[in-house]
Amino acid sequence: MAISAETNEQRLNGISKTNGRTPSSSQPSAVNSAFVLKEKGHFYYEDRPKPSLPSEDYVIVKVCCTGICGSDVHYWTHGEIGDFKVRQPLVLGHESTGIVQECGSAVKTLKPGDRVALEPGTPCRRCEFCRAGRYNLCTTMKFAATPPYDGTLATFYTLPEDFCYLLPEHVTLEEGALIEPLSVAVHCARLADLSFGLSVLVLGAGPIGLLCCAVARAYGASNVTVVDINAGRLAFAKDYAATAVYQMNSVSADENARRIMKMPGLTDGAKVVIDATGAQQCISTGIHVLKHGGIFIQAGLGAAEIAFPVAQLCSKEATYRGSFRYGPGDYQMAIELLQQRKLSVKELITDKFDFDQAEMAFRHVEQRRGIKTVIYGPNNTLGAYHGSTHAETQNFQIRSPE
Ligand SMILES: [Zn+2]
Ligand SMILES: [Zn+2]
Repeated sequence: MAISAETNEQRLNGISKTNGRTPSSSQPSAVNSAFVLKEKGHFYYEDRPKPSLPSEDYVIVKVCCTGICGSDVHYWTHGEIGDFKVRQPLVLGHESTGIVQECGSAVKTLKPGDRVALEPGTPCRRCEFCRAGRYNLCTTMKFAATPPYDGTLATFYTLPEDFCYLLPEHVTLEEGALIEPLSVAVHCARLADLSFGLSVLVLGAGPIGLLCCAVARAYGASNVTVVDINAGRLAFAKDYAATAVYQMNSVSADENARRIMKMPGLTDGAKVVIDATGAQQCISTGIHVLKHGGIFIQAGLGAAEIAFPVAQLCSKEATYRGSFRYGPGDYQMAIELLQQRKLSVKELITDKFDFDQAEMAFRHVEQRRGIKTVIYGPNNTLGAYHGSTHAETQNFQIRSPE
């Protein structure tokens, strides 16, 4: 792409030119432009003060690309998820990449200009769960875009050095935005003890379901069947990573399961079933398809309580495991899969919006259009980073503020 280094540098150092608002400071890099959810259904833009480094092992990152997640949209449409309620203005977004702008004095592995994926939750590191290596269960986790903690849809985001991951040279900033949901899929794969030659059933062909399919294939699953009600999504899944697809019918879970088990490789059921829907009909079907001694991973979240074929679970002596976000090693594994080209995520990016069109992006996701919607900015505009890899970024290293 023929964008001059000057243009890119202006884009990186200044506020996005497309948002039509004048920076409130003469120092453009000190403006922290944020996309804020005021309350249910109401967004606004706000120039906030630039954050400072909370401690010497933190970095400040300029956010470049952010994928929009179902949870972001849910906070906008409902103002809450479970016990988490939006009680004060909240910056949404947690699936982000960016460029390191400033490093604390103790930071050793990163430098300004590095392209990074952001792991958006900071655990306490001291509680029982953190110390046991399950920091995703930390009871005082500060997770981006989960009230009261602000998310990443702003010029700057600060996080600890070790929650910032260098992107492989060939992975673009927009692809990097998919590392967060990919880590969710990696976490499911680990909980399921996924290994070579298994039969896997994935319920739901949205971003998480599709990424679960891709990870299962990368782990060498011999059969990855994905189930959805939407024929378009199934066609996409077949092209992307599934070995077979099944369209849910409006028959009983039992009957859907019987039909699925007539498919090749599933006669005895699937050793691993991953539900990425949270829908009762899907969960019931999945448990019916589960092989004796199999593992069922609950990744999707729908109604808080559902009816459940518990007798099946008992007689099959099956394992039912909840899965929550990601933990130690999951981001590294997701990046390793991309690094070694064991899977690809760029196919999932179907819709792109600039930062000043963020509300439109949310509307788009709410209407369930496309697979993954990515917002560009505020430090770049759609096109400025389009396909930008490490080599191109070399042309416009960000300098630390003097
Ligand atoms: Zn997410
Ligand atoms: Zn903790």
